[in-house]
Amino acid sequence: MSNEYRHVLVAVDLTKDSHKVLERAIPIARRNNAKLSIIHTLEPLGFAYGGDIPMDLTSIQDQLDEHAKERLADIADPHDIAREDQHVVVGMPDTEIHRFSKEHNVDLIVVGSHGRHGFALLLGSTSTGVLHGAQCDVLAVRVGNDDEAAE
Ligand code: AMP
Repeated sequence: MSNEYRHVLVAVDLTKDSHKVLERAIPIARRNNAKLSIIHTLEPLGFAYGGDIPMDLTSIQDQLDEHAKERLADIADPHDIAREDQHVVVGMPDTEIHRFSKEHNVDLIVVGSHGRHGFALLLGSTSTGVLHGAQCDVLAVRVGNDDEAAE
């Protein structure tokens, strides 16, 4: 049995594509006898509204966090991924995925990647952001075109 990877991190956006990305990562983790963690990042509410809202957004952020945890569990529980290995963090996906990877000695990050063209290609993507600056291997699982709406 190969032991090339010891900790595989799967990043999911909670769309239906997440299943495909996770199902590609699981056999790799099993073959390598590696730990498997799954992560979803939530954009900070203040960030989305320009940080200018004169109200405390903490309780709304907490509710969003709770909701994301439930949706992540719906995806991860059927694959027997322990709740302690299911992570919801607040921040930008590439930054947080890199931070988590460094802090937890992740040696393979698995992300989904849409076939892009036109403006979407120019705007870049989460998978590109994750690839740039990653200090470990990154596997981009093709999850269909942007035209084929995910969700
Ligand atoms: P792309 O289509 O290249 O933008 O990348 C989509 C992939 O990036 C998804 O399949 C996930 O693997 C990852 N991703 C996008 N948004 C998030 C998020 N909020 N949290 C974690 N991973 C994400």
